[in-house]
Amino acid sequence: MVKKMTCVACPIGCQLEVVLDDENTVVSVAGNSCKRGITYAESEVTNPTRSLTSTVKLIGGIRPVVSVKSALPFPKNMMLDAMKIINETEIKAPVSIGDKAIKNILDTGIDIIVTSRDKGKQQ
Ligand code: SF4
Repeated sequence: MVKKMTCVACPIGCQLEVVLDDENTVVSVAGNSCKRGITYAESEVTNPTRSLTSTVKLIGGIRPVVSVKSALPFPKNMMLDAMKIINETEIKAPVSIGDKAIKNILDTGIDIIVTSRDKGKQQ
């Protein structure tokens, strides 16, 4: 089977043609301009990941929500379950960039971290 995909490992975005055998193992990759395209194709076939970005509710903040992201690329097949947890999460101001909003979400070993600051409302 031939699978077509766009390599997103850099902004060039090479169009890859990935040949898979019956066990979904990569046999060959064409269209890549560098070796990273092969690595990307193999990980996309075996364990596709995406960066996960969202917001969580912020208690006592200047804004009602704060932006967050996964600290590492996140397994694509777990995105919906992760978003349910993120949507139910509330954290308290003040928050700083890099604070852990959710530790080890879904036992993936990946933290959801804050990506903006909010010093909270003045008392
Ligand atoms: S194959 Fe290499 S050059 Fe092409 S998009 Fe991927 S990383 Fe960039």
